[in-house]
Amino acid sequence: MKKIVSILVAVLVVFSMFAITASAAVSTPTISAVSNVNTAKVGDTVKVTVSTSKNSKLGAFTASLQYDTTEFEVVSGNSFGAFSTEFLNTGAAGKVVYVGAAATTVDGAKTTLFTVEFKVLKADGTIKFAVEEAYVVDDKGTPDDTGDDDEIDVTAQIASKTITIGCAHANTEDKVVESTCTVAGSKTSTCKDCGKDLGTTALPLAKHDFENAVVTKEATCTEKGEKTGKCKVCGVETKEEIPMVAHKYGDWKVITPATETKDGVKERTCEVCKTVDKGVISKKPTASAPDDGSANIPNTSASMAFAFAAAGLALATGTVVRRKRK
Ligand SMILES: [Zn+2]
Ligand SMILES: [Zn+2]
Ligand SMILES: [Zn+2]
Repeated sequence: MKKIVSILVAVLVVFSMFAITASAAVSTPTISAVSNVNTAKVGDTVKVTVSTSKNSKLGAFTASLQYDTTEFEVVSGNSFGAFSTEFLNTGAAGKVVYVGAAATTVDGAKTTLFTVEFKVLKADGTIKFAVEEAYVVDDKGTPDDTGDDDEIDVTAQIASKTITIGCAHANTEDKVVESTCTVAGSKTSTCKDCGKDLGTTALPLAKHDFENAVVTKEATCTEKGEKTGKCKVCGVETKEEIPMVAHKYGDWKVITPATETKDGVKERTCEVCKTVDKGVISKKPTASAPDDGSANIPNTSASMAFAFAAAGLALATGTVVRRKRK
């Protein structure tokens, strides 16, 4: 019994495969309209490309791109010779119309039908792509303009589409509501081009503004102090911390003197809280043989030269004296 069921299932699967193949004999081409960007700002150029899939067997085709003239302006349009006769009308404001009629079917590599470049006049706009007429050729022969015998109307099967070019929110404006000591302020960002609210962030509370604040506890080097006062703005009787002050250290005392091989230790003590602060005394520089001996030579020779000169002078003077005596 099980065997019979599985044979039946197999037979049904084979039949349904044939059924699909048969109905796919004349396939509906896909026609896509896409923009090169999803968002843009005023002044940007948006390019819309309309293309069909390979081997789509398109015989004739009329399509349009409709837009709001306050949102877009046509800069340029280009068709690509996919059909033997075709034209692209970009002249009428608010609508670009493309008509293509085939002596041969559209297939192979000729997939791009036309492109249109729009200048963005207003942020956040839409362009409606509509297929007004579309015929595919059947398997009987070459298509012609009458479209009666060998062309099949597939207009209804090709979906139209709305292309949305969102605002890039390139120009924003911030509105700030300042915080007080009791109510948090906010910053709201809005797009100047499309008016969209881009979100609000809360700002921290402002500090209380004390009037006649009195120090009720002095800050020391071990404890924070306190100020008590009344806020000018909200009138709250409030205490405010005063930060701790620095230790009052005495002079450094050497605990272990530094040697040529070891660092020394020094200490100082806070006069108020007796906190001990330890420090390092760096190693003594090594008293090795002077390696700058060569630098002393000029000095030595200079003093020697001076000695010679002095001696010479003495000798000369002596000579003069001796001569006078003669
Ligand atoms: Zn915007
Ligand atoms: Zn306050
Ligand atoms: Zn201290």
